[in-house]
Amino acid sequence: MMKKALVCGAGGFIGGHLVKKLKREGYWVRGVDIKEHEFAPTQADEFLLLDLREAHNCWQALSVDGGAFDEVYQLAADMGGMGFIHTAECEIMHNSALINVNMIDTAARIGVPRYFFSSSVCVYRDMQPGEPALTEADAVPAHPDNEYGWEKLYAERMAQTYARHYPIQVRIARFENCYGPEGTWRGGREKAPAAMCRKVAAAPEGGTIDVWGDGTAIRNFTYVDDMVEAIYRLTQSDLQGAVNLGGEEYVTVAELVKTVIEVSGKNVGIRYVEGPVGVQSRNFSKARSRLLGWQAQTTLREGIAKTYAWVAEQVRQFAV
Ligand code: NAD
Repeated sequence: MMKKALVCGAGGFIGGHLVKKLKREGYWVRGVDIKEHEFAPTQADEFLLLDLREAHNCWQALSVDGGAFDEVYQLAADMGGMGFIHTAECEIMHNSALINVNMIDTAARIGVPRYFFSSSVCVYRDMQPGEPALTEADAVPAHPDNEYGWEKLYAERMAQTYARHYPIQVRIARFENCYGPEGTWRGGREKAPAAMCRKVAAAPEGGTIDVWGDGTAIRNFTYVDDMVEAIYRLTQSDLQGAVNLGGEEYVTVAELVKTVIEVSGKNVGIRYVEGPVGVQSRNFSKARSRLLGWQAQTTLREGIAKTYAWVAEQVRQFAV
């Protein structure tokens, strides 16, 4: 019997790539989102346009052939990069919380056996450069830098609460920054790698791009193919409790921008300007994700080369 999977947020970046992965693994897949995928036709067997803030739409999404899906992947969220996170605080707290509250409640009641939830390393406090790695347990006592992190923390706890009271296995990933082709690259919700690729691609030869902050913030950037492999392995695994998912390579924003410029082959200067940067530093233990037999394979340079090629083509087509 073909396994059936539901991907919520299938019209988005990671959800779109996850649908492709599940199809390669032989699943029958239903995708759900409030919008169609902007950049590629869906590869889901069925795609439903539904607003998952509404409980009755969660029932519709989760009902299949009078039974339940074998696996549910919950990636739907009202989210974006730092620019969005710092301005749309009410939307994030309201919309994403409603989606998560209704999805886990409905999935548990309908009898879903396995439920994946996409959390974020934004649940952790800020760090100083050179600090030893934080483990998953260090998320509490909690002091996230932004409302997005607080909402994720609540949604994690809610899913774990249901796992204690219903026969539902919950798997939780805390993603580091994920990037790659077919993700938001303009409009205000884009994240740093896509934004840098767009700015460099649109800059004239010898021009200058603006970069928020002073370039010293430290991050990991994980390529989307690596991330969906980890999501799949985690969901199949027996690993309970949250798991940090990200690569081992930590770089400064200045190094990210330098990589983009080198990959582009262009002569472009950098001007650091005031803007929302988020936390100063990141460093997370990968010991638990190693239990999945998983490690990110794609270097920043390789991943940026693929992402830059895709974003540059969008810039060319849409004459940004
Ligand atoms: P994305 O914005 O591309 O995808 C999220 C999708 O959710 C979008 O397509 C959006 O339309 C959909 N959505 C929003 N509101 C909805 C609603 N009311 N009903 C149905 N669908 C709705 O983001 P992404 O980068 O693919 O992120 C996927 C998940 O991973 C999110 O939960 C996000 O918080 C989490 N995450 C992502 C990153 C990252 O770097 N991309 C990092 C940490 C965590």
